[in-house]
Amino acid sequence: MLGSRQEAQRALFYDFSIEDHVPADHVLRTIDSIIDLSGVRAHLAQFYSSTGRPSIDPELMIRMLLVGYIMGIRSERRLCDEVHLNLAYRWYCKLDLTDAIPDHSTFSKNRHGRFRDSDLLRHVFETVVAQCIEAGLASGQRYAADASIIAADANRQQSTPKADWNPEAINPDEAPRAVREYLETLDDAAFGAASPVVPKFISHSDPASQWTGARGGPAYFAYSTNYLIDTDNAVILDVEPTRSIRQAEVDAVKIMIDRVHEVHELMPERLIADTAYGSGPMLDWLVEKRGIAPHIPVIDKSGRKDGTFERADFTFDAENDLYICPSGKELKQYRRAFTTPRSGPNKDATIRYRARKSDCEACPLKQRCTPKEPQRKVTRSIYEPSRDVARALSQTQQYAISRKLRKKVEMSFAHLKRIHGLGRLRLRGPCGAHDEFILAATAQNLKKLAKLAPTPIRASPAQ
Ligand code: SF4
Repeated sequence: MLGSRQEAQRALFYDFSIEDHVPADHVLRTIDSIIDLSGVRAHLAQFYSSTGRPSIDPELMIRMLLVGYIMGIRSERRLCDEVHLNLAYRWYCKLDLTDAIPDHSTFSKNRHGRFRDSDLLRHVFETVVAQCIEAGLASGQRYAADASIIAADANRQQSTPKADWNPEAINPDEAPRAVREYLETLDDAAFGAASPVVPKFISHSDPASQWTGARGGPAYFAYSTNYLIDTDNAVILDVEPTRSIRQAEVDAVKIMIDRVHEVHELMPERLIADTAYGSGPMLDWLVEKRGIAPHIPVIDKSGRKDGTFERADFTFDAENDLYICPSGKELKQYRRAFTTPRSGPNKDATIRYRARKSDCEACPLKQRCTPKEPQRKVTRSIYEPSRDVARALSQTQQYAISRKLRKKVEMSFAHLKRIHGLGRLRLRGPCGAHDEFILAATAQNLKKLAKLAPTPIRASPAQ
């Protein structure tokens, strides 16, 4: 039998509670129960005028932005529609059924205004990190660091070759915001001053982004997001945007380690990273300046492919500051007392040790040692003691465990791109990259907190 036609009947009154319709296991319900955002208003209070029309609640905007990054909704226009329609999102944003949703343009105005002036997004991120530490998800003993390249909102068609690029010809008063930010960050170590090399192309719309072919495929404009994670549960302790240049990424790790120490009073026992972070100055900074064990492969270019003796075939005598060659002869930095003392290291931070010409000429191993030169030279980095510390650590069982723990930071980047949809930036300029990276990292930590906080997982003591 054909049933009666179902048509919605408009009721005059509804007895309706949004909360009843949010599933008990919804991620936003868990997040709401563990994170307190009431400090947002207090943090921003001094940036509001005491007169004029009341503003949109900043806590509401932060809640909406978090919903966007947690659920992978990148567009603020779409986010407003989704919060309007989705009961769980409305509930998390503390909005009733009849409450109006802020216009999408409100986010842009606040992002470039009060949020930036007060560094609100970093305040929220650090609040969440503090909560993760309090919940026992991060002990601060082992850090892992890495960088991931995220495509910028810029394309090759709207760019200038480096030969035609002249930043001095730009009038800041007429330039768009991202270009003004580029001019303002020209002396910033993370951006303009990261390298004296001008990239092959410079984007018109986002000149601070880096033209890079680092992934091996076609080159594109990009920024790097740098993560410093605690390896217990892969909580992101800090995040920093830079140009996609190795030196800027290495410097970002130093900034993040010091900032985490300053904000959360944590200093790790070890730092785990890949070869990109294994330069002499970086290892020396970790070992000598911060007392951190570098679980990092050493960048070593002393190997030889022509079969002649490598530096590793020479023995260093630290007490007498000389090398002993395979023939048992001494290689020294100086062989006589100079009237004017020599300054020591060369410009490339190395010290040269030389054998006696007479020793080499009479040596039966000369063809295997220095067939083309009259005497053998061996260079030693001024950072060699710290490099030796890293080499010694690389032979330990702990190091083998660290190699596995490093995968956690790579997994965080995979989640960032796949689950949170951050394969390409939506906002332009260094500030846009900063906002997107920090909000995405906050969302990742919140999801981690919601998943693990009731039953924190600690790495075993053996690790
Ligand atoms: S060539 Fe000179 S440095 Fe090399 S093994 Fe012989 S004596 Fe030593």
